[in-house]
Amino acid sequence: MTYYLLTHPEYATDQEYWHHNPIQPIVSARLPSIRCPVCGTWASSQRIRCPQESIVGRRELMTFHAIGPKEWIAVQEEWAALLDVDKALILPGSEVGPARGRVCAPFEADAVHLLPGQIWVNRRLKTVMQSSGISGLSFEPVELIDNDRINATQVELWELVVSACIASHESMDIHSVCTSCGRVNRADNHSVSDKLARCVRDCVLVDRNPNNIFVSSRVKEVLEACRATNIATKIVGATE
Ligand SMILES: [Zn+2]
Repeated sequence: MTYYLLTHPEYATDQEYWHHNPIQPIVSARLPSIRCPVCGTWASSQRIRCPQESIVGRRELMTFHAIGPKEWIAVQEEWAALLDVDKALILPGSEVGPARGRVCAPFEADAVHLLPGQIWVNRRLKTVMQSSGISGLSFEPVELIDNDRINATQVELWELVVSACIASHESMDIHSVCTSCGRVNRADNHSVSDKLARCVRDCVLVDRNPNNIFVSSRVKEVLEACRATNIATKIVGATE
């Protein structure tokens, strides 16, 4: 099957990008990054959505500090238990908290792009995608905050959350995973497209990398049929 990267249309300038995506993300908190003796200090782009109440009183998370692998394992286990999620989803530097943003200018598009892979959609596009039975995808409500000029209560958005994930490596051996910190080395584009060709979900991440949402040709067709605005697909591989 052919897969596509879900992304934004090409913009000629940064100003045009901002015109089409006039929302600033608000990050509530981040877990510490990790200081690995093999890989160095690194952080993931993982986003772990949970209510604000889950992180209240944990303002120390905003200090953006790095800790060693042993300390990290303790943090990972504590947060997996606290949020009741799989330990594998808790990665160094993960953003934790609700999806929140500040609306800085009026907009009417179906989708807004904040970071690569962080895509918020309006009610129309959410309804279309849900009724199309697209697999591997859920929708997290976004809390939007006004600035002085914009009434954000007029805007409703949902973050695309991709639950399906495939591994780019056949087995997680010493060549693909750091034995000290568990970091997965990213595969090259060829092996990613090779693995995607055997995938059966409509929306999927590779190696839990949230920066790239891969979608099937069915998702592309759904977006085109409803003439969704400010969202695009780029082909990543075709084996048939
Ligand atoms: Zn490492």
